[in-house]
Amino acid sequence: MASMTALAGAQIGFSRDEDRWTAVVERDAGADDIFYYSVATTGVYCRPSCAARLALRKNVAFHNTRGDAEQAGFRPCKRCRPNAAAT
Ligand SMILES: [Zn+2]
Repeated sequence: MASMTALAGAQIGFSRDEDRWTAVVERDAGADDIFYYSVATTGVYCRPSCAARLALRKNVAFHNTRGDAEQAGFRPCKRCRPNAAAT
């Protein structure tokens, strides 16, 4: 999808899973609202900057939107509140 590539592409550079994982490891707040990540073992999804303990890479999946994560069956994290309205 060309439009999606343009949206998430050049400027931010979180289009690849590797880059997203790096952002999660570094708790990069600059990645917030660009993507979300879910943890299979806990069943929750988080903002990249969430202060929760880092999950194992193999248990983590990435989502472009909150709806995507919720449709995949994940609940919003109570700590970083990814479902709270963006300001
Ligand atoms: Zn969280």
